[in-house]
Amino acid sequence: CGIVGYIGEKDSKEILLKGLERLEYRGYDSAGIAIRNGKGVKVFKEKGRIADLRGVVENDVMGSTGIGHTRWATHGKPTRANAHPHQDESQRFTIVHNGVIENYHHIQRDYLDGVEMQSDTDTEIIVQLIGKFVEEGQTTQQAFSKVLTLLKGSYAIALLDAEEEQTIFVAKNKSPLLVGLGSDFNVIASDAMAMLQLTDQFVELMDKEIVIVRKDSVDILTLDGQSVSRLPFTAEIDM
Ligand code: GLU
Repeated sequence: CGIVGYIGEKDSKEILLKGLERLEYRGYDSAGIAIRNGKGVKVFKEKGRIADLRGVVENDVMGSTGIGHTRWATHGKPTRANAHPHQDESQRFTIVHNGVIENYHHIQRDYLDGVEMQSDTDTEIIVQLIGKFVEEGQTTQQAFSKVLTLLKGSYAIALLDAEEEQTIFVAKNKSPLLVGLGSDFNVIASDAMAMLQLTDQFVELMDKEIVIVRKDSVDILTLDGQSVSRLPFTAEIDM
């Protein structure tokens, strides 16, 4: 029920875990993080509390790009396998998702025949389909945009591409997601509170945009690739 992400110069693990702890009030049954480093993307996830997740995170895995998730199960039991992040077959793409994909069954039937699902979630089809479209020759941005046009339901999504260093792709529809701006980093969060320790400058995202977040840039695009400019606001919340 919450998403965080960090892209910058520091190791992202503790920033993500602390961010998830600040979202605990939203309720959840499992949690996970994915860390991008020189060797690819490493996923840690666990049923239960953030404290349980801390128990399975390997301290020697470091990376300055990462995404995190707390799950409130809607499709599939609260288990480790159903916890986010989820990956495609090739493990090139890693995703976290809040919300409900109403037509996941149709997408699975129409596009993903023969793909062996690793979870019972409505989420996994998103990342499997991005992987499939990229394998067919699309860029990650094209594949992500294309998949978003096919989804019905609500979502806040953060996506990592193991072959694209220092990039987090994000999008939302009817679920909250903000980008927080720093001087040598940027963050994402469902709620500004998760990242207020790092910044109070946030950019609001609109439904059906695709946002490419890098350490020193935030590019907001419409699904057909038109660039959008939007000024940040200052989050004022008592801590
Ligand atoms: N529908 C997704 C699932 O059940 C995401 C739930 C959430 O928003 O945490 O895994």
